[in-house]
Amino acid sequence: MKDTVYEPSDATVSRAHVDHARYAEMYARSVEDPEGFWAEEAKRLDWRRAPTRIKDVDFTHGSVSIKWFEDGTLNVAENCVDRHLATRAEQTAILWEPDDPEEPAQAITYRELHENVCRMANVLKDHGVGRGDRVVLYLPMIPEAAYAMLACARIGAIHSVVFAGFSPDALGQRINGCGAKVVITADEAPRGGRKTALKSNTDKALIHCDDRVKCLVVKRTGGQTTWTGQDVDLTAAMRDAATDCPAEEMGAEDPLFILYTSGSTGQPKGVVHTSGGYLVYAAMTHEITFDVHDGDIYWCTADVGWVTGHSYIVYGPLANGSTTRMFEGVPTWPSASRFWQVCEKHAVTQFYTAPTAIRALMGQGDAYVTGSDLSSLRILGTVGEPINPEAWAWYNDVVGQNRCPIVDTYWQTETGGHLITPLPGAHATKPGAAMQPFFGVRPVVLEPESGKEIDDTEASGVLAFADSWPGQMRTVWGDHERFENTYFQQYKGYYFSGDGCRRDADGDYWITGRVDDVINVSGHRMGTAEVESALVAHEKVAEAAVVGYPHDVKGQGIYCYVTLMTGVEASDELKKELQTWVRQEIGPIAKPDLIQWAPGLPKTRSGKIMRRILRKIAENDYGSLGDTSTLADPAVVDDLIENRQNKG
Ligand code: ATP
Ligand code: MG
Repeated sequence: MKDTVYEPSDATVSRAHVDHARYAEMYARSVEDPEGFWAEEAKRLDWRRAPTRIKDVDFTHGSVSIKWFEDGTLNVAENCVDRHLATRAEQTAILWEPDDPEEPAQAITYRELHENVCRMANVLKDHGVGRGDRVVLYLPMIPEAAYAMLACARIGAIHSVVFAGFSPDALGQRINGCGAKVVITADEAPRGGRKTALKSNTDKALIHCDDRVKCLVVKRTGGQTTWTGQDVDLTAAMRDAATDCPAEEMGAEDPLFILYTSGSTGQPKGVVHTSGGYLVYAAMTHEITFDVHDGDIYWCTADVGWVTGHSYIVYGPLANGSTTRMFEGVPTWPSASRFWQVCEKHAVTQFYTAPTAIRALMGQGDAYVTGSDLSSLRILGTVGEPINPEAWAWYNDVVGQNRCPIVDTYWQTETGGHLITPLPGAHATKPGAAMQPFFGVRPVVLEPESGKEIDDTEASGVLAFADSWPGQMRTVWGDHERFENTYFQQYKGYYFSGDGCRRDADGDYWITGRVDDVINVSGHRMGTAEVESALVAHEKVAEAAVVGYPHDVKGQGIYCYVTLMTGVEASDELKKELQTWVRQEIGPIAKPDLIQWAPGLPKTRSGKIMRRILRKIAENDYGSLGDTSTLADPAVVDDLIENRQNKG
């Protein structure tokens, strides 16, 4: 199945901003003359002072410095809101869908967005927030989350969004980590028919913070909350605030936000993104990767707690004057049809989600999808993990009805925007491949040990990048050394992604998973993702995670955690069947040594499997599981430890 190639249809190509020839021409220019290319692209934004110094980058470990558009000045909120007022004041900016389908959706126009952002900015100023101050946002997926981000940007404050599913401890760590002056939260966050008490969580977090930290509270549900002297009713304060607030003139390199990575591989890193380069890159990738045109209804299902929500719900779409959907709920409530019903209800044109959601919905059966009219859809997107070909094919056939190109966008919190992705009208797609670099992006495949660049077209190794792009992170908040050591130390002169990859004979890129997830079985290096894909391709398997464990003979053995489809009975025969299956699918070398039935897998709150925890369990080293603050359901881990197979 891997080598199936899907060419874009004539309709897709003729509508696209970028076709194959244009991609080739633009890409060549972007890497041969980055200064000229990005000086031109910077004109996407309205600058107060247009930049003349375009690129100033040094990847040398010990003196890493990344600057783009350094002498330019602008205001990000002005670019995402004010500049659209002349032509789009009455166009919907944010189309909000609440958790409960019975509650009415809201369409917020650019004029209303401007008013609300200004009101919130004025409230923040009243509470002493100004340029360079940090504000933590701990909010449901409600329009106020976007207002708050843009209000900070308007007055030059730096926001740090913390996903509303995080615990008081995780929230407290992040408030202290960035030295926030203010936390913006809500009384409660409705999600999947349940309510999380955000305000009480915030109270618990604030016990461990400086008492001067103020708490501004949005009334989302009106549910019971406790109020202390420091608390401010933000909904009421906004009502009383002035509807206009001047936008600060910011330097291109002034920080826009701090955002912690998902914590899949270790302790989350406070990634810093700046104003000019980030916005140019978010706007450009949003427009071109999703081939967005006027009149489109674009929907990214992510949460603003993740970078995907920053770049592709708020900043990219609004910089482009698009209509962006915000969804408060979850894919499976009230039923597994919710995504598709919402697509039909709002005639969504671009739909962007994560493999974890696709796999979960695939497991529920096609009937949930086929009951909705999805004829408005044009482009489908995926992000967050390698997507296994099985799930890709389902997304393509059942959701996209074989009509919608799938953009498998590879990128990271650190990269600000897409790095490797097919573009709808320019590239073919292959199930599971991220395909081709975005403009200005120079991927290289390195030999893992020597760090030597592999020149052959067909290559397999670690993925690094030979040059910068405007959306690249600038530092780890408060710890530039960690930034240098994490990304620039191991392979000199490159930005190291931490991911493995393969380049095929056509020069297309396949992400094979994290470098930490590569195992060495009897001298053969293999990505665990390949074994997982084979397992998931079996009709009885819903999800699988594979790690290595010490093996006397082979060096490393293959340990598989397998979640079965609903209704399938676990048995020793089935284990044998799966071992034989993987052996046939990949080869004898990939035959699983141990299989453990896993009712659930440990995942981050953004739905990524935390293999580092599974590795510890497989290695019998579960005394020190590392940072588990971003784990979605800690109880899953106890069950897995209880039933581990490697009881050596
Ligand atoms: P941490 O850095 O704290 O371990 P994380 O890497 O999961 O957490 P993110 O920045 O949210 O944090 O995720 C980026 C990673 O997600 C990438 O490095 C890659 O491993 C994976 N990823 C994202 N998109 C894709 C994709 N389209 N295909 C394959 N892998 C992807
Ligand atoms: Mg990472």
